[in-house]
Amino acid sequence: MRRVVIKVGSHVLTQDGKIAHKRLNNLVEFIASLHKDGRDIILVSSGAVAAGNTQIDIDRKSVAGKQALAAIGQPYLLKIYQTQFAHYGILSAQVLLSADDFDSRRRTKYAQSAIDKLLEHRVVPIVNENDVVATEELVFGDNDRLSAHVAYYFDADILVILSDIDALYDKDPHKCSDAVIRKEVSYLNPEELEAESTPNGDFATGGIVTKLQAADFLMQRGRQMFLASGFDLSDAYSFLLENDHKGGTLFRPKEL
Ligand code: ADP
Repeated sequence: MRRVVIKVGSHVLTQDGKIAHKRLNNLVEFIASLHKDGRDIILVSSGAVAAGNTQIDIDRKSVAGKQALAAIGQPYLLKIYQTQFAHYGILSAQVLLSADDFDSRRRTKYAQSAIDKLLEHRVVPIVNENDVVATEELVFGDNDRLSAHVAYYFDADILVILSDIDALYDKDPHKCSDAVIRKEVSYLNPEELEAESTPNGDFATGGIVTKLQAADFLMQRGRQMFLASGFDLSDAYSFLLENDHKGGTLFRPKEL
């Protein structure tokens, strides 16, 4: 897999109101291994609002409060990433996108050529939704669907979602102890895609449903998605660097 989009949730990046530095460093190390292996990597990172909240206490329940926290947290988070990537000799860049960057061919092309130029120079683009000024009709609202668009329009072979959950289960494993992992999925039915979203925690906005919607978007377009743990990256390492599907869920359309 030549071009890989990696999406990481705010749960993985923060812990008890602080940046989870160890996990962020592990993520950067993982991306550096893929980069060294010659892959093009685009990182879609959540966590701007949570990162902002580590610096200042603003009520994040209102839209303006969230926007203010994102404005504070986005450069703060990027600085940490840039410093960590620099340890591996990798330059990283900030790319803020909104839904309307994908709504016309002309605009999508502008975004594509910027990303291609960065990747050509071996830079790791770090993408987030431009939620500081995003208006309600335009927002993706969660980075799961944004990352699916990024993967498709920027021509990645696969989207890897690193979550607080290590795979898709047949039911919510946090509620049902007998939940069973679904290792390979080639079709999602309409009920699964419409179920109420179940974000796990204050900063998570997606839940499993938006991950399934992302998977469906990609499978319908002949692309793959891999869902694995962002806490323990061993399944992601095995799958992407050793071609060994030990854990995690691979969403792959039948024809691939
Ligand atoms: P992230 O912050 O990584 O984007 P979320 O917390 O938004 O992740 O979504 C993952 C959560 O979705 C899991 O922790 C789990 O509680 C919940 N969930 C609900 N149903 C399922 C399921 N069938 N399989 C896996 N996780 C599920």
